[in-house]
Amino acid sequence: SNSPYQSTLATDMASNLHFLIIPLMCPGHLIPMVDMAKLIAQQSVTVTIVITPRNAQRYGSVLDRAIASGLPIRILKLRFPASESGLPEECESVDDLPSFNLSKNFFDASAKLQQPLEEVFGELKPKPSCIISDKHLAWTAEVARKYQIPWVIFDGMSCFTQLSTHNLCVSKIHEKVAELEPFILPGLPDSIVMTKSQLPGLFNPGNSAKAKEMKSVREHIRAAELGAYGTVINSFEELEKRYIDEYKKLKQGRVWSIGPFSQSNKNDLDKAQRGSKSSINEHDCMKWLDSQHPGSVIYVCLGSLTRLTPPQFIELALGLEESGFPFILVVKGGSRAEGIEKWMAEDGFEERVKGRGVLVRGWAPQVLILSHRAVGAFLTHCGWNSTIEGFCAGVPMITWPQFADQFFNERVAVEVVGTGVAVGAQTVMHLGEEDSAGIQVKREDVCKVAKIIMDEGREGEERRQKAKYFREMAGKAIEEGGSSQLNLKLFIEDIMLHTNKGMAG
Ligand code: UDP
Repeated sequence: SNSPYQSTLATDMASNLHFLIIPLMCPGHLIPMVDMAKLIAQQSVTVTIVITPRNAQRYGSVLDRAIASGLPIRILKLRFPASESGLPEECESVDDLPSFNLSKNFFDASAKLQQPLEEVFGELKPKPSCIISDKHLAWTAEVARKYQIPWVIFDGMSCFTQLSTHNLCVSKIHEKVAELEPFILPGLPDSIVMTKSQLPGLFNPGNSAKAKEMKSVREHIRAAELGAYGTVINSFEELEKRYIDEYKKLKQGRVWSIGPFSQSNKNDLDKAQRGSKSSINEHDCMKWLDSQHPGSVIYVCLGSLTRLTPPQFIELALGLEESGFPFILVVKGGSRAEGIEKWMAEDGFEERVKGRGVLVRGWAPQVLILSHRAVGAFLTHCGWNSTIEGFCAGVPMITWPQFADQFFNERVAVEVVGTGVAVGAQTVMHLGEEDSAGIQVKREDVCKVAKIIMDEGREGEERRQKAKYFREMAGKAIEEGGSSQLNLKLFIEDIMLHTNKGMAG
């Protein structure tokens, strides 16, 4: 394949390139973009990542280690205008929001980063060759246009989601069906059934005034997105090749799947500190996992943003208890923490499951936990990062989608890949309507699906074998000669050609 001569040449040329990465300040977006910065810098491309002061602290140890190892990564700190935008002073990340009713304020604050960024843009040397930014920051398209460089988007979602979103926008089939009427997602390589009530906010915004406020934000983002030069995707060909191919056809080939990004974290320290300092002592947690049988523990985490209502949390907790399996349960209460803690204190849940159940209040070192051989299943809300981290870990998944693209990702895990079993959630949680939504998933459902996923019979074994196969594929994808590493090189080459053409013309 590649002769050493060719790759040296490529490295020389790559070192003239400079990619400017602008993430949305939200864990599910920042975490993969920090990983992506490392992967790109490993190809000798200089990378500057835009970040705000508190996020620089939060993600700093991981970035500092990457820089200390010699990777050409730079950090551009911009102050986040929280208070000017009606947000609490220290709120710089979507998971810091006291309520998601402030989502629009958060997007407004993010847009105010444009001017300070443009003020320092001229000082970035060499001149950035492209911007890779979160599509939710539609203003970054204007910056790219102003400086005449390609605007490449990353939104942290799968090609299954990209393709489904595109097909729904074109067919508008969701406008012709009732809320709970099953329909086949149009134009996909597989026959996948969903209902309107499971679709992301763009198609299914909810009824509250706040939800309507977000509608215009989403439509604005969608319109801007269509003008992007290309898209990078945190996925890999062995996982969803037919979806990647279809989406590429739609986008003149400028779709590069270069994941799974989480695989870029090679040592335990990077895994443990990914996304935040963890709320438990990692060593104790690992020691407890060491004491459990291989494949026996269910790891339960619903991402960085979901805050279950106390009644729904109770069902989850009691279902896990009833199932009899050892578990790690990550609790993110936010404004609902008080209600959850009150129940736990009165009910004695924590005391009863002592030794068999570990509670993590706050941030869990997810990738580190998932990599432990004692973990036998992952109960996930199907954020795309968590879903793909589950594939990388090679564990079957219990799927419990909550909002955004999560029902799409459930279909990927359950139907396309076949390592997931759905707990049975039926509708997305709409912004500001969580408390009135009642209980979606009952303790019996949790207990039943836990038994299915841990089943030692033929079906369970098949799922475990499949999960192991995808773990192996995920491991190879970003290594030398892997599909994603090749795609990353093609992406860099594309930007290089574009840059040279621009200089000639
Ligand atoms: N995560 C973590 N510990 C937690 C919660 C989340 O490490 O306690 C990480 C998780 O590994 C993933 C990201 O945060 O990389 C969450 O992204 P995802 O797309 O799964 O869901 P979101 O939080 O955006 O809903």
